[in-house]
Amino acid sequence: MTKRLFAVLVPLIATVVFLTAQTGPGWVEAHRPAAERLIAESQSSDFAWQRLAEVTDAFGHRLSGSEALERAIDWAVAEMKKDGLENVRKEPVMVPTWIRGRESLDLVEPIRQSLPMLGLGNSVGTPAAGIESDVIVVKTFDELAARAAEVKGRIVLFNAEFTNYGATVAYRRDGPSRAAAFGATAILIRSVGPTGLRTPHTGATVYADNVPRIPGAAIPAEDADRFQRLAARGVRIRVKLMMEARFEPDAQSYNVVGELRGRELPNEIVVVGGHFDSWDVGTGASDDAGGCIVTWEAVRLMKKLGLRPRRTVRVVLFTNEENGLRGGTGYRDAHKAELANHILLLESDGGVFDPAGFGFTGPDAARATVTAIANLVKSVGASDVAAAGGGADIGPAAEAGKIPAMSHNVKGDYFLIHHTPADTIARITPKQVSDNAAAIAVMAYVVAEQGLGQSRTP
Ligand SMILES: [Zn+2]
Repeated sequence: MTKRLFAVLVPLIATVVFLTAQTGPGWVEAHRPAAERLIAESQSSDFAWQRLAEVTDAFGHRLSGSEALERAIDWAVAEMKKDGLENVRKEPVMVPTWIRGRESLDLVEPIRQSLPMLGLGNSVGTPAAGIESDVIVVKTFDELAARAAEVKGRIVLFNAEFTNYGATVAYRRDGPSRAAAFGATAILIRSVGPTGLRTPHTGATVYADNVPRIPGAAIPAEDADRFQRLAARGVRIRVKLMMEARFEPDAQSYNVVGELRGRELPNEIVVVGGHFDSWDVGTGASDDAGGCIVTWEAVRLMKKLGLRPRRTVRVVLFTNEENGLRGGTGYRDAHKAELANHILLLESDGGVFDPAGFGFTGPDAARATVTAIANLVKSVGASDVAAAGGGADIGPAAEAGKIPAMSHNVKGDYFLIHHTPADTIARITPKQVSDNAAAIAVMAYVVAEQGLGQSRTP
């Protein structure tokens, strides 16, 4: 190489490297005009926030088996048709019908006082007169086992401080059966969430097969710590728990599906969605009406702008995530024959707060592609692609079809309000809804346009 050529080439290469680092590879930049249109359209109105307000205001909570859920599903079908989505339909799924009924928790000793509580979802009820027992306070399953001799005939309080959801949800899920194995009459848990405003959090419990089914309820962190202090002082704690909780026969429900059919490869599918059911407290705005609305909005934006990608983008509002996952397993079973044609599954079920980006589980080449695409949503703060992604509803299909899976990630206090009466739209701004919808629209559009190669997850 001559000195002169060297002098020309080095700055040229440096410039190309610099530009590539600032933007993305050429194939990504080719999609930037479409991405900018999607972002601008989403940010130009509060349409999706208003739609989220409508569903949460009009129908309230959407527990599986409730009339409210089915009314909301019919409304979503009608609205998707109004949006001009294609193949809008309800796909039947039978769902469990768990009914909370009336419930209460009263402190009996050392003083009489009514306490805030929420029964755990799927819990059995108490006898009509309630269960009155002394309380033993433990922090861990190990402490429970170590003090097994003290458990019989008592109510166990698991006071496991919230660190993260994955670490502490085990007490809600397994607490009743673990305590019943040692003869407990019922359990209480410290709510699975950070300390709020004396807020109890519900959520599903799961009974083991080989032990008696005892009732379980959640109390606020503040009350759990109070019980811990009383116990440390050697004060006798006695409570009366009353819960009418029960199951009724399974009910008919549906996954809602709408599409924008691909212009060249309509049989290849990108799925986006969330779960339309919720717990029976609050209005399930963050968990997960918001996830449904922003993924649905992503498809509506493409339709509105005439951006029809090469492959089909399908929005799915799954039913019954919270206490059965029948929507997710139902989707897998109903679409078994076409799972091989699904190229990406994206779920939004972590709230709709300030965007962070996505999480991705799939082959390295596909990860490189979605990471490059995420450059296009840097302006809304959604360019991060975390090490793993997925979601409860897309999990069964992702596993069965070895399909790359993506979560929609946000920065916010999701677990502060998770499964509580405070899960309302009051926590969500129109800008957050628009920015997240834009990010999902760009990701889904470009993946549907570009593809992720033939790769399956390992
Ligand atoms: Zn959820």
